[in-house]
Amino acid sequence: MDYSPSAKELSHFPFLKKAQDHIKNRFSSLDAVLRDRHGEALIEMAVTRIQDAITPKKKGGYEVSGSPEDEIASYALARVIASCVNDKQLLDRLTRYESERAYHFLVSEEEWNQNYRQGDSDYSLLFEAISEELGIRITSDRMPLADYVELVSPLHDDRYHLVNRRLERGFVRVKKEERYELLRERIRVLMRRDLPHKVPASLCEQLAPKAARIKKVYQEQMLQQFGTIEENAFPPCMQALLTALTSGTNLTHAGRFALTTFLHTIGMDVAGIAALYGRSPDFDIERTMYQVEHITGRGGSGTEYTTPACAAMRTTGICVHADKLCERVSHPLSYYKVKKKDLAKKGNPPVAERPDEGKNISESKSGT
Ligand code: SF4
Repeated sequence: MDYSPSAKELSHFPFLKKAQDHIKNRFSSLDAVLRDRHGEALIEMAVTRIQDAITPKKKGGYEVSGSPEDEIASYALARVIASCVNDKQLLDRLTRYESERAYHFLVSEEEWNQNYRQGDSDYSLLFEAISEELGIRITSDRMPLADYVELVSPLHDDRYHLVNRRLERGFVRVKKEERYELLRERIRVLMRRDLPHKVPASLCEQLAPKAARIKKVYQEQMLQQFGTIEENAFPPCMQALLTALTSGTNLTHAGRFALTTFLHTIGMDVAGIAALYGRSPDFDIERTMYQVEHITGRGGSGTEYTTPACAAMRTTGICVHADKLCERVSHPLSYYKVKKKDLAKKGNPPVAERPDEGKNISESKSGT
């Protein structure tokens, strides 16, 4: 296929092989990049890229500030730095951001750039080139059933459920705008599949100050997002785990893991979480602190684990008492966010704002 994008166009789709080839000979080793002054600027661009990914998106904001080559390099460096941070949710956010960014440029460039048109066809050279490289077989208005099923499995939009689609001899009909959305999903999945990269420890050490800065911003973002802890907004699964724990029942490993990661993400500190486990019949302070610190990333590995999604919670049997809102979410943290907003709208202020109710869960449950 005759597809010769300019350097600027490549910078909009930096994951393409052509984009990576374009910069291959311009930058020597990563070690060398870290040592020179231009490299410092590139790393700053990469950090900004990650910060943009974890900060709520501003309208219309996918700015291209550097040269095309620097843009492509900053994409690759951002993935290296995020791999050193090695937080599952951060990696999810980064890949979602990058796929949204590519989608934005794909849709907007097709609108104005006639070079991408192919005669009367309603899909462009650009779309065709990207989908071919990413192995997605969409021809004008249909795609093979097996490809379609694999592609839409992480999507929760009813539109994509097979029962709502037209099937014709092993193919699924897709509309033009859906093709772009499916391509965006493919970009996201492929980008995520490669992460985290195996980055040598010595490189991560050099990047440690940048990684620490990102962790700090990320933590602040999470706290802003989740605000004060509101137990009334807990999803049924977490309510059940908490009730079991505080009534003296031993939780399974999966239950402890889910509850600990959930409480940690919504802002409860390690001591608070460990105090909750004080009600457990087999409570052992040292073992509990070790487990909580390990799960929350303060142990030796530095890896912060993430609360399992609803699908995984169902597999381990800890998705219980699912309610109406559960039908609209795929993650216990999404449930918490939506419910918290709903409660605030109904004038139910967070616990900490109510008189005499400023205690966090660990205080109220343990009676301290
Ligand atoms: S559907 Fe999700 S949020 Fe609801 S109870 Fe099950 S795991 Fe929890």
